[in-house]
Amino acid sequence: MMKKNTYFDYAAATPMDKSVLKSMLPYFSGKFYNPSAIYLKARSVREDVNKARSSVARILGCRPAEIIFTSGATEANNLAISGVMTEFPKAEVVVSATEHESLLEPALSHNCKLIPVDQFGIVQPGALSKLITDKTVLVSVMLVNNETGVVQPLAEVARLLNEVKKDRIKRNIQQPLYFHSDLAQATNYLDVHVNKYGLDLATINGGKIYGPKQSGALFIKAGTKVRPQIVGGGQEFNLRSGTENVPNIIGFARALEVADKKHKLEAERLTNLRHEFEKILLSSVGKSQINGSKDRRAPHISSISFLGTDNERLMMELDELGLMVAVGSACSASSGEPSHVLKAMGCSDQTARSTLRISFGRQTTKKDINKLVKNLITIL
Ligand code: PLP
Repeated sequence: MMKKNTYFDYAAATPMDKSVLKSMLPYFSGKFYNPSAIYLKARSVREDVNKARSSVARILGCRPAEIIFTSGATEANNLAISGVMTEFPKAEVVVSATEHESLLEPALSHNCKLIPVDQFGIVQPGALSKLITDKTVLVSVMLVNNETGVVQPLAEVARLLNEVKKDRIKRNIQQPLYFHSDLAQATNYLDVHVNKYGLDLATINGGKIYGPKQSGALFIKAGTKVRPQIVGGGQEFNLRSGTENVPNIIGFARALEVADKKHKLEAERLTNLRHEFEKILLSSVGKSQINGSKDRRAPHISSISFLGTDNERLMMELDELGLMVAVGSACSASSGEPSHVLKAMGCSDQTARSTLRISFGRQTTKKDINKLVKNLITIL
């Protein structure tokens, strides 16, 4: 009999929702037209792209013209950071130390300061405050961390930035201060209204919300100065050139609609499942610990260290049993380096190398959780 595979890596990729796939299919064949062409059929595709833009804007609580479709979160993060920093080349950017690589790498290529996090993975506004100078033009803090699920206090950060802005006005300092957040891991479970967090820029990722990979968007508040990083045809309000990937745009918008409808119930369901999972595991396996704040975590990720073990071996043993988990983010998995997220939280290399990232999603059932717990206990 074939062994049934069970998936616990939803933070890396999500299977496409059936209605998303269905919504995309016409745009590969019958409606293949370039939306920039001017004949009737192409104009109707342009209208569909605009409807998708309006739908995304409604869910984010912004205007359609503030949504730039991109090839996913990596491009959106690059556009947010490098787009602002090339407009203000002498300025400084401040980002949290636990950001995803697609944000850290462009940030570190400009004048960048890293905000430390505490042992629970949380950014302290006080620590951020000390890093902001009159040169700071951009601050970026992700809403949900992709390795631990930790939820950052964005509203508090926004309040602090507003104070700084007021002070700048008093002192007649013209430099703007923008706030960006990578919402890639938050969209399935949390409210992603950009005004709730006082954001000027926000990254959304279709590949993490049961939509197509290489789809997503950057929200750019009207008036925010961003220099395009891909130039040529002037598409996406001149901020991202290239013929639009229409099937991905349509699928991404549909995926966001589904996620928006499901987010409250799914968050509740997964919070309960994860609670059960962690409770049994921690009480049965000695020398194990959950990484990240217990009360400020999105419901789909469990970062667990089994001290004294080798996470890669553990992952492979589980894989042989048909259980798919991760040793960190999908990006750091190939580098072999211990996780920069766990290290920023004060974990030793050894602890980081004994950590699994187990992530849950729409198809995860109680039976799956029981199977994983049972096998982990047996192996350990
Ligand atoms: N940001 C976060 C928080 C992520 O989790 C990921 C993917 O793991 C990305 C950005 C990059 O997404 P993509 O590789 O789909 O562009």
